[in-house]
Amino acid sequence: MTEQFEIGVAAADVRPRRTKIVCTIGPVTASFEAICRLAVQGMNVARLNMSHGSREWHRGVISNIKRYNKKHAGSLAVLLDTRGAEIRSGDLKQDIVLRVGDGLTLTTRRQAELEPGCVEVSHDGFVAEVTPGDIILVDGGMLRLKVLEVGRTDVRCESLDEGVLGSRRHLNIRGKSADLPAITEQDWADIEFGMAQRVDFIALSFVRTAEPIQVVQQHLAARGVTMEVMAKIESAASISQLDAIIAAADGVMVARGDLGAELPYEEVPLLQDEIVAKCRRAGKPVVVATHMLESMIVNPTPTRAEVTDITHAVQQGTDAIMLSGETATGRYPYKALEVMDAVARRIERHQEQQGRQAGFGCACQLGLQGGGSDRLRSKMEISRSAAILGNNLGAAGTLVITRRGLMAALLSNCRPAAPILAFTNTTHVRRRLGIYWGVQAFVVKLSSDPEVSIQRAVEQLQRKGIIRRGQRIIVLSDILAGGLFVETVQVRVI
Ligand code: PGA
Ligand code: MN
Repeated sequence: MTEQFEIGVAAADVRPRRTKIVCTIGPVTASFEAICRLAVQGMNVARLNMSHGSREWHRGVISNIKRYNKKHAGSLAVLLDTRGAEIRSGDLKQDIVLRVGDGLTLTTRRQAELEPGCVEVSHDGFVAEVTPGDIILVDGGMLRLKVLEVGRTDVRCESLDEGVLGSRRHLNIRGKSADLPAITEQDWADIEFGMAQRVDFIALSFVRTAEPIQVVQQHLAARGVTMEVMAKIESAASISQLDAIIAAADGVMVARGDLGAELPYEEVPLLQDEIVAKCRRAGKPVVVATHMLESMIVNPTPTRAEVTDITHAVQQGTDAIMLSGETATGRYPYKALEVMDAVARRIERHQEQQGRQAGFGCACQLGLQGGGSDRLRSKMEISRSAAILGNNLGAAGTLVITRRGLMAALLSNCRPAAPILAFTNTTHVRRRLGIYWGVQAFVVKLSSDPEVSIQRAVEQLQRKGIIRRGQRIIVLSDILAGGLFVETVQVRVI
């Protein structure tokens, strides 16, 4: 990390990537310099994983992100990912090395000294939930334990693999969702912390129903805090409630790590397809997460299979793709981001070349699911018209005036070919739009006269060299007609 690096080296004329990138910040990327570097390399959203690090540590990271935004007029959004209710192994004096067939006892007894070969589990109800034959996955399946016998406090297991069980390792019961509280005390404290720090997104881990999402949303609303609540789909139970969860959440994360531990891993690709398609139909931003470049935690180049995985996610039209350990603790955080960026751009360029003839971006046939108010439906149809106009005319961009971000989100949902140039009047909305496919967001002083706002936006785009005189753009905004504001789509040459 001693490589020379300067802000401003990114070529300004490169077409922006449409698929957004979320980077998890960890010990190797927590410094101000590291955050600047990731931002310049294309990170759109910084994720803080509350399963690791103290709140003090995360506070330091957030202040570095804010400093970057301030100093470089950036719009990095912060996503605070809660730990959620999970089962973990207790503290061990020494890791337990297991061979195939070795015995091990998991216990809910809370006592200082346990006999050798006995490990505490954090969940008191554990014993009631496992039955002989169940498979317990350690660290998402790095080690599998088969349940042989269930007693009053102890669960006798046999190791199916050769491996190591360490302190505080994550345990899943395959195919079962443990009966844990939806939002733990630590999660509430982390949510409060996120509210105080004014983060942009809160991700709820291991959600099983829509209810905790609504509970958090109501809590935020009651306190007058605008923050998006994302649902992580990572438990077996969440799959049966998928539609209700997507409907309630402001965004969704396909958390493939735990998903592939609670369910057989061969289900994960099909579930990813289903979740992404459903989110696009519902108009909710969706993030594909975990193991995208896992091998780059230790290697400087990706496996070809990882490149194909990123390609698949981009081709599906996911809003964002995510790096986890790669940027949090890996040896090559910047190379991993570079690879992700390069692969996404390559696929998008290909789609674009094909699409000019084949109608790329007309995924807007999906649009929002039926229902919704008339006003929402009309906004949706108008944004869809803007997408089609932009595609058919080969517009240089679609300028959208969007106070709360809704029109930009609806337009993004249409996956238009023309870049989405969103103008809003708050930095929070600008940051939040960072997770949406294809949206480049800017802050402008909005006027009560829509035409004045449009003019200011156009000037800003020209000043930044994003559009030039003589180019054709689409404008999606309100106009004043007969004393009323009405949404319009216009074609303009500037
Ligand atoms: P985690 O969630 O990184 O918080 O475990 C992501 C996943 O399970 O895939
Ligand atoms: Mn997880």
